[in-house]
Order: sequence, then structure tokens, then C-alpha cells
Amino acid sequence: MQPNITSWSIEEAEKTYGVSRWGGGYFRIGDNGNVKVTPDPNDPSIQIDFKSVINDIKEEGIQLPVVVRFHDVLRAQVENLNKLFNQIIEEAGYQGSYNGVYPIKVNQMREVVEEIVDAGTPYGYGLEAGSKAELLAALAMNTNEDSLTILNGYKDEEFMRLALLGRMLGRRMVVVVEKYSELLLLIKASKQLGIEPIIGVRAKMTVKGRGKWEGSAGERAKFGLTIAEIIKTARHLEQEGMSHCLKLLHFHIGSQLTDIRAIKEAITEGARIYADLHKMGFELDYVDVGGGLGIDYDGSNSTNDSSRNYTMHEYIADIVYGMKEVCDMEKVPHPTLVSESGRAITAHHSCVIMEIVGEIRSNSAELDTSVVDGEHFFTKNMREMLENFDGAPNKQELYNDASQYKEQALDAFKLRVLNLEELGKIETLYWQIMVKLKAFYADVDFVPEDLLELDYRLSSQYLCNFSVFQSAADTWAIDQLLPVVPLMRMDEPPTVNCSLVDITCDSDGKIDKFAVGREITNVLPMHPLKKGEHYYAGLFLTGAYQDVMGDMHNLFGRLNEVHIFSYDDDPEDFYIEEVVKGSSVEDVLHIMQYNPKAMATDVKRLIDKQISAGKIKPREGVKWTDFYENCLSGYTYLKTD
Ligand SMILES: *Cc1c(COP(=O)(O)O)cnc(C)c1O
Repeated sequence: MQPNITSWSIEEAEKTYGVSRWGGGYFRIGDNGNVKVTPDPNDPSIQIDFKSVINDIKEEGIQLPVVVRFHDVLRAQVENLNKLFNQIIEEAGYQGSYNGVYPIKVNQMREVVEEIVDAGTPYGYGLEAGSKAELLAALAMNTNEDSLTILNGYKDEEFMRLALLGRMLGRRMVVVVEKYSELLLLIKASKQLGIEPIIGVRAKMTVKGRGKWEGSAGERAKFGLTIAEIIKTARHLEQEGMSHCLKLLHFHIGSQLTDIRAIKEAITEGARIYADLHKMGFELDYVDVGGGLGIDYDGSNSTNDSSRNYTMHEYIADIVYGMKEVCDMEKVPHPTLVSESGRAITAHHSCVIMEIVGEIRSNSAELDTSVVDGEHFFTKNMREMLENFDGAPNKQELYNDASQYKEQALDAFKLRVLNLEELGKIETLYWQIMVKLKAFYADVDFVPEDLLELDYRLSSQYLCNFSVFQSAADTWAIDQLLPVVPLMRMDEPPTVNCSLVDITCDSDGKIDKFAVGREITNVLPMHPLKKGEHYYAGLFLTGAYQDVMGDMHNLFGRLNEVHIFSYDDDPEDFYIEEVVKGSSVEDVLHIMQYNPKAMATDVKRLIDKQISAGKIKPREGVKWTDFYENCLSGYTYLKTD
């Protein structure tokens, strides 16, 4: 769908970019054409304008690109999830309670985890860890004795000892057995230390989540125990006199579950396992339904990979009512419910602000193509095609001929029949024909297959000062769609269709999948760049996984970060509570085993040599030395002002 440029309005902008469809109630387009954040759903009067955020960032001397964290959004999501669980539990007459955990792999940043733990304290909301490093973090961070710490992932003996240390400190640490051999390790450590564990088992589910993570379940799943292994585990614990330690049943059928039906099926399957274990004498207290609560990245509310066909409310209702129904039929107590939603808690709270620093177009330079004596007949033919465009009865034929001429011209050039200048003119004429073709087909109902691509071929590429590999890893790795929109000028019609490219030297460093209108397209309507005016785009919903999965491709390191709190008494409704500096060039070089200090000394020595040789004046030499050192301690991204 092409946006309606002629009668452009804020409503049209909203239709085009779908900000409120994917914005989760936090983001919308303001009447002044700027994107705004309402970080606290309880106080809609607080509205933060991205333009003010950018102004403040600049005033503080912080360079773009930056990650912006809205701590209030994080808190609001924790509250939403917990309140909804409690509310639906009450409505359903469910007898157990809810004791959720936040899986820290989704965003392990200390400030993020601290905020979540703090916001979750009234609800006994805990943490989930899946590796030793995460466990060490969780042990220090989750100081709330009422909340759970769930330990998933593969474990060694040290891991078990750390978990038991947590038990000794009075924490509700649950070791989830992913593999039968882990049970033996845990029993051994527990007996040696004389500390009793709380044990969970992870079931390998037969129901598969649909979407990108469907490999998380099924018989080839990497994690979990088969039914036979679960029974063997329970019996083994019984023999050891430890069956009372078996407290939790866990399953996780994949992240970003797109279809609610998979969730319903998993709940039924999990509830049946729980109920039968109960009837066999293993009285578990908890059922942990894992993660998977999806985010509507493309705003389509569908089973697209980047969407989901349900709401948080529906998801929770299906868990609560589904569990209740099976337990009531089986006449077993309702277990305490645990969920491990990560994506849904963190996705909205952070975004990346980046500047568009240039435009790349195949037809940006044009040569003078007027007739000259002795020109090659290829050039002449191409010019005639352009001149006779309107009269050409069959435009597809014209397209085929022009494309063929262009290819032949290139061959002729390689064979030294055509010179460089003539090749350049042919290229110019070719693109002029393509522009005419595009305009012609814009008003025609049926567009031939070949020509459909013309829009994309003629579209611009906007060069963005950021790295896909650092800030949007999943768009590269798994073709994930993340919303990108202009942060300002939404009241102006976006007349340039473009894809986005980053500043890495990697042709994969690009974004060419967008949700525009109700469609997934390969170009995004943006505004024409203006000389001397900055133009900014926001990459949204990066708080889950993207923030922490980035890599150092081309040595672009971590981004500067600003943490924003809403504040009613401030004229702009917010303040920057903290700035976390991103990687400097020194930092990233250091990781790669360089010694930046020694490098600076070496370069200084080379400059001194030129001074001694009289090739550089001493004053200039000092300037060059300082410049090199300043660049070393500076930011890795492009400096734009
Ligand atoms: C990754 C993971 C989660 C988080 O899943 P989301 O879909 O982000 O909520 C929860 N539990 C386990 C075991 C995981 O591996």
C-alpha cells in the first residue's frame, strides 16, 4: 500500500507507520508530527516528545546513536503482567497464586534487572537464570525472600553448589533438571553440603510452538526430560528420601509464540503431566509455563512470525482457565503458577535513536546525454527509446529492450568497443527510462512481474549512523522485523521510499523489511533529507534480546545509553537520570588485544620523525598527535556535528 501523499495528515501517518498498533499504548504520533512516549499508562497526561529527548541528549554532549531506556515502561510492564495474573486468578476462582520470574537472558543489563526486581517486589516477582554467570547475577540481585529464582539451562557441580548457597541464604532457588545426569550431580552436592534443594523437572513437550522457535519443543528439543525420564527422576528422588524436594514442573515451547492455539495445547499437556504426577504421589507445588508471550512487532495482530494473534490478557486467561479445568477434572489442587515472560516485559522499554546521514541512489548522478558526433549506436538507440517513450505501444517490450541494451553495452565496454564515458551516458539514459516506466505503471492496474521490482530498484537507501549487528542483531540473524519510523516531520508527507543501510562495511548491514500500512514491504516511506537539517529515525522494541545480543562487527561497540524517568513537574515531563557511556575506540581495540597507549606512542614517534626531518612543523605535529589520541578515546560511530 502506498501512503496517500496528496491528503497527508497525522491520521494518515498513523495508518502508514502503525505506531499505536505496535506501540503497546506507550508510543504514538503527536499532533506536531513528532513521536511521543506515554511511559506511565496510569498517567496519560505525561507525554514525552522525542524531539525534547534528542535536544537534552545533545545538550549533555552525548553523541548519537543512543539507546534510550524508559524505566517507567519497564515498571509498567511488570505491573501489567502481575496485576492481570492476579485479576484473572480471582475471576476464575483459581485456588493457587502467581509467582512469575523474569528470565534475565532477555536483557541482563544491571539497571534493567534492578528495575524489574524493584517493580516486582510487591508481587513476589523473581528471576530466572540459564547460565552460571546469570545465576551469580541472580543470586546477588534477587534479594526478595518471597520470590522464586528458577535455574534452567545446563549445569555443572559448581552451578549446583551456587544454587545450594542460595538455599542456605534463605532464597527460593529452584534447580530445574534438564537432563537426568544433572539430578545425580545435584543429589551428590546436596548430600555433601547438607543443604536440601528445591527441584524442578523440565518436560520435553510434544506440542510445538509455531514460529521461529518451534525447535524448542518436540522429541528433538535440546532441553528437557521425556515422560519416562520424569518418572525415573521422581522415583529416584523417592529412593533417596527426597521426593518432597520435587516441587516444580517446567516447560517452555518456544519464544514469540505466534498462535494462541499452541499455548492452549501446551497448558493442557502440562496440566495433565502435573495431575498424574500428583496422583502418583508426587505433590508438586508449582507449574512453570515458561516464556513465549509474543510481541506484535509488525502491528498486524496475526500469526506472522513478527506478530501474535492474541493479547496478554488472553494468554493469561488461557493459562489460568486451562490449568483449572484439568485440575478440577482430575481432582488435584491448583498449583502456584509461574511464567517466564521476558520479551513481553522488556521489548517496549528501549529504542535506538539514530541519525540518517546520507542517501544512496542508483540514479543519483546524471551525465549530459545530448547527441555528439561519432557516438556509438548503443547510445543513440537508448536515447531514442527515451524520446519515443510515450509513443511506445508496449511498455514491457521497451523495458526488455532497454535492459538488454544496458547489458550489451557493458559487454561492449569490456571488449573495449565502448568507452567509459559512453557507458556512463547509457547508464544515465537507462535510469531515465526506468523512472518513466515507474511513473507509467503507477497508474495501471496490472503490473508485469519484472516491473514490480522497479519500485525497489529505484528506491533510495538511507544511510543510518548505527550498526545492525550491534543494535538489531535479529533483523540480520533471523529476519526479525523491528519497527523503524521517522521521529519527526510526521505531519509532512513522506515522499521518499527507501530501505535502510548501516555504516558497517558489510552488505548484510541493512534493514529492508518493514510494516507499512497493513503490509510487509521492502521499502519504508521517509522524508526527503534537507540540507543543514538533522533527520532522525527510531528503531523500536529493542529492549528484548537486541540490547544485549549485539556484536562488535567492524569494531562498532556498545551504544551510549540514556535512562529516562518521567517527571510530572518538569516542563518536558522527564529527566535523564543516568548516562552510560558506550564503547570508545580504545575500549573495543583493547578487547581485540591491542594496546591503545602503545599505539599512541608509536604514532607520536612517527610524527616526531617527520618533524625532525622538517616535513611537519612542530606545532602541527602536536596537533596531529592530540587528534589521534582524541579519536582513540572517542566514540566508534560517525560524528555528525
Ligand atoms: C528464553 C527463555 C524464556 C524467555 O522467553 P520469552 O519468549 O522471551 O518470554 C523463558 N524460559 C526459558 C526456559 C527460556 O529459554
